[in-house]
Parts: sequence; C-alpha cells; structure tokens
Amino acid sequence: MSRTTIRSVSVEPLNIPLLEPFTIATGTTSEANNVLITITLADGSIGYGECAPFSPSTGETQETALSAALGCAELIKGKDAAHWRALSKLIRSVYFSQGTAIAGIEMALLDALTHSYGIPLYVFFGGASTFVETDMSIPMVSPERGYDLAKETVARGITSIKIKVGGDLRDDVARVEAIREGAPNVGLILDANQGYTANEALLCLEALDNRDIRPLLMEQPVHKDDHEGLRYVTQHTAVPIAADESAYSAANVAHLIAMGAVNVVNIKLYRRRLPCHAYPVNDRCDDRVSPGDKRCRPLCCRPGRFPFRRPRHSYVTGGGPLYWRLRAARRGV
Ligand SMILES: [Mg+2]
Repeated sequence: MSRTTIRSVSVEPLNIPLLEPFTIATGTTSEANNVLITITLADGSIGYGECAPFSPSTGETQETALSAALGCAELIKGKDAAHWRALSKLIRSVYFSQGTAIAGIEMALLDALTHSYGIPLYVFFGGASTFVETDMSIPMVSPERGYDLAKETVARGITSIKIKVGGDLRDDVARVEAIREGAPNVGLILDANQGYTANEALLCLEALDNRDIRPLLMEQPVHKDDHEGLRYVTQHTAVPIAADESAYSAANVAHLIAMGAVNVVNIKLYRRRLPCHAYPVNDRCDDRVSPGDKRCRPLCCRPGRFPFRRPRHSYVTGGGPLYWRLRAARRGV
C-alpha cells in the first residue's frame, strides 16, 4: 500500500451563520449550509475540503452536496491520492452535475496529498505566488448600509469591493454611489449575477459614468445562456465585462472568447472544480488576451482563495470560508 492511499473519507454538514443575510440578484441566504470533507491518507496526512452549495447560483443544496460527496467518497476510498487527476475524472463522470461536491472532494484530496508531500498547494501548482489579493462583497443592501459596509471594508485594509447589482436600476446606482462615497479610493467590481438585460446593464454603467464612477469590471450582467447579450454589452462599453455563471465549462469559455463576448473570466473553483477544469479555462484565457490589453486590469481574488493567479484576464474565486482558513493556518500562506 502506498503512503498516499486514501484510508478514510468523512463527509459532514458544516453550518456557518452569516453576520447578515447575503442577497444577490437571484436569491438570499442567511446561513452557509456547507459540507466538510476530511480525507486521511495511509501515512496519516489529513486534507480538508469544503463544498459550498449556493442554490440561487448553482441549484445545489447541502442535502444534494452531502449525498453526492458520500457517493464520491465511496468511489475514491482505498485508491491512491497521487492519482488525483484520474480520481477527479472518475468522480466527475458519475456526479458531473454536482460541482460543489466534486470541488470539495478534490480540495481535500489535494490538501491531503500536498500535506503528505510536505509542500504547500501553491508550490504543487508551480509556485507562482505566496499571496493573494482579496476583495469584499457587499450584497444588495440599502445605500446607507452599503456606505457603512464600505467604510468597514476600508478600515480592514481591503482595497477592492465587489458590489452586488442586477436589481432595480435606481437602487443599484444609489447603492454603488453610496459605496463609492464610503470608500472613495478602492476598486469597485460590479456583479449583476444575471439580473440585467443587456440594455439595463449598459444603462447602469452609463448612469455610473455620469457620476464619474468607473468600475474595474462588471461581472455576468445577463443570463448565463444569453451569449449574444453578453457580447452586446461587451461591445458597447469600455468597462471590462466578465463571465461568471456563463463560464461553467472550458468549452463554454472557449466559445465566449471566440465570439468576443467577454473580456474577463471568473474561474470559480466551487463550480468548475480544481484540477481538470480550472486549468483549461485559464489556459484558454491566456491564448486570447494580449498582455498589453488595458481593458484587462489586475483583478483580485476573494479571501485567500487560490494559490496562484493570472491577473490580467482571469481571476479565481473558490469555496466557502473554512477550508481556506484551515489551509492558511496550516501553511502560513
Ligand atoms: Mg459572480
């Protein structure tokens, strides 16, 4: 038996109350109902992974993630974690529609494996960087609350804010304006979570421009399958437009890039999983964007999300908070 043989896999609910409800264009949540994966290898190395289903975004729930993760656990138990690509392919072939479960299992797998190898994950993937830039999301709150949250964010030393929009245009513009006032010197990213039509997205950007507010980018202005709408927005504004919900597979990203529908891609680990999906997505972005493209500015990751990044044209967001906190504590990254 290899020292990296998977001895056990545990799957358990992980419920984390939020400080306040988190509202985006497609729904609200007041508690993170996640799933904790713990993988132990033959040599005693332990890896943690977190499934972070968010039903307004992916349609998955804690129940479906628990069930799928338990199924994945049965598939990989007794196998060698060193064959992580093959294991990833195996679980994906069976649970292909349960992205957060697959992501949690893969995170735990790689965490355990790199622990066994005695190297941090970012070294395992090429050692590009030992730090990540972070942003803070402000949900669809009142302008007053947005202003307060912006102030708090600045006080924490965070230099980028992602603002959830995609609702009523006047409310959205008022929220962004208040946040700009509370945080005049930070970069602003807008995330419409599919909430606008193409015209609404352009109206929002125009209204903000009239107020001298120019976001770093706008993420997913229109429905994920409205590729023409995405292209229309991209071609009618100087603000970079990012695919998030639309970027659910490498093939889809290739298509979006080929049709000139987006400038930026948000590589979301909890949806696209880690080893077999994030890489091809990232590689396709590299092929298409010149390093001098001024529209593709350096972007940031959510708190502690990933061991490397390619900042000009893609960025990475990942799972829930626990996994990365555990990793940060263990690796000092
Ligand atoms: Mg998004």
